[in-house]
Amino acid sequence: MSGWEKSSKAGEFKSSAGSPVSALVALGSNLTSEWGAPDETLLRAVERLGAISERLTVRAVSSIWRTFPVGGPASPSGQSVFANAVAAVETTLGPFELLETLQEIEREARRVRKVFWGPRTLDLDLILFGSEILMSPTLTLPHPRAVWRDFVLGPACEIVPDWRLPTTGLTLREHRRLLVENFANFESTAFWTQTVANGRR
Ligand code: ADP
Ligand code: MG
Repeated sequence: MSGWEKSSKAGEFKSSAGSPVSALVALGSNLTSEWGAPDETLLRAVERLGAISERLTVRAVSSIWRTFPVGGPASPSGQSVFANAVAAVETTLGPFELLETLQEIEREARRVRKVFWGPRTLDLDLILFGSEILMSPTLTLPHPRAVWRDFVLGPACEIVPDWRLPTTGLTLREHRRLLVENFANFESTAFWTQTVANGRR
């Protein structure tokens, strides 16, 4: 972990030929697949993330956070239960290559589904890529909605609280405090609760 901590301080550090960049990936699922229930799907996704490319290494994984939908009974099939986690990786892939890799894993998870295709079987978002700031039709960095989502900031603060966003200059911990203190009624904060379970570090 010490190598990771060093590089995570420098969301400050940039990709240059061959040198690894720290990136932050958010994982979400609320549908059971053949990989299992949402928790298991996330854990399998982390395993795939670690295995899919020699140029990609998983450095840290948060615990899994889970919430239940607001109002109405939870679906008997479990579809409405969300599981979220965040993984810190180090990679020599570029940001677009990393996004394509995440999309490949999303497709793998969806491909094994028998019942029906759900867009949230597995959702992998690229939250931060070093200190990269990017706005393109296919990739925005930092992820524009991450700072509004406690289900991203909460798990992220377990593993890389001091990572500074290149856009705001604030750390993930500071963003989380802002969100929770000022937007307590915001949909993404009020109903998310931490679960301990199954997180592998
Ligand atoms: P969402 O994650 O918002 O629920 P999708 O997973 O369907 O929606 O992603 C839609 C598109 O968002 C993708 O095709 C991708 O090109 C684009 N996108 C832009 N920026 C990012 C990012 N930082 N991480 C992941 N996808 C992104
Ligand atoms: Mg996505």
